[in-house]
Amino acid sequence: MPADAAPGAKHAAPTPESVEVADDAPLTQRTAKKAAATAALRDVDPVPGSKKPDPILVADGVVRRFGGLTAVDVEHVEIQRGSITALIGPNGAGKSTFFNLLTGFDKPDEGTWSFNGQSLAGVASHKVARRGMVRTFQLTKALSRLTVIQNMLLGATGQRGEGFLSAIIPPLWRSQEKANTERAEELLRRFKLDKKRDDFAGTMSGGQRKLLEMARALMVGPEMVMLDEPMAGVNPALTQSLLHHVKDLREDGMTVLFVEHDMDMVRDISDWVMVMAQGRLIAEGPPDEIMANDAVIDAYLGGHHDAPLSLEEEEAQIAAAEAELRESKEQGR
Ligand code: ADP
Ligand code: MG
Repeated sequence: MPADAAPGAKHAAPTPESVEVADDAPLTQRTAKKAAATAALRDVDPVPGSKKPDPILVADGVVRRFGGLTAVDVEHVEIQRGSITALIGPNGAGKSTFFNLLTGFDKPDEGTWSFNGQSLAGVASHKVARRGMVRTFQLTKALSRLTVIQNMLLGATGQRGEGFLSAIIPPLWRSQEKANTERAEELLRRFKLDKKRDDFAGTMSGGQRKLLEMARALMVGPEMVMLDEPMAGVNPALTQSLLHHVKDLREDGMTVLFVEHDMDMVRDISDWVMVMAQGRLIAEGPPDEIMANDAVIDAYLGGHHDAPLSLEEEEAQIAAAEAELRESKEQGR
């Protein structure tokens, strides 16, 4: 286990200083945590619910029903500290709902889960954030009619959501405002949003809003960041930049769990992949193994993967076409 990621470590996450060093650090240093994550996961069984050497998050029997529909039914899951784990699965699989449950934005019907060994069941979302676990949303929650810097400062309160306005006045807030503003400006520079500091969030592109949301999530100095479809609606010009930012979170010692439909991104950045379908965790393993598993891709991602046909698949298709031709010729006779 890396020394800077001990269980229960408070705010192991980056200070603004470490954020600044990050961009110019040598490449070897920038990929050290990837190597560590790969090594830590090497001997993990690629089966749903498998034990991890150093889990930061552990969930048991988490069930969420909406009327007759069981949206989430996760028996056991462990997320390895310091890794980037992708959560994939078709629309409606329960991925966003699972994120909501873990981060206190929704309550399960059953189940327990703990973060750094401490139970989070029944803990409100802003307190979950202060304990070091934050999330971003599939549909960005950046508030259009607030400026970029105002959105950032809200992040410091720990994701109170839209009802926060009544809560931002207390003296505690004022005394911390200067430190928070400095941290916010540092993060805006890191995400290259500093020129937008005083623009309304509503004037920014979808991709910039995604970046803003990621930056805002870092205001509490989290140990774990959960990203719900960070690439959705992002202009290709910003895609690479977003990918780098996600990798940087790991290099700065954070644990990342993200939902994404873009399989290229999943393959590129994840150390581990989990597959959800109909509320259940149905597979997990290293990206190559999961992605090579056509059955997983076909059955759970709707079968429209873009991978080129294998030789066998191509031959089978040609054989089928020839058989059809023969049949129609024979019928024509
Ligand atoms: P995913 O993020 O994997 O696409 P979701 O977690 O959004 O899936 O949804 C899982 C299932 O739960 C879907 O069938 C969805 O319609 C249903 N669902 C999600 N939220 C609610 C809600 N608030 N009320 C009723 N049904 C919901
Ligand atoms: Mg979703």
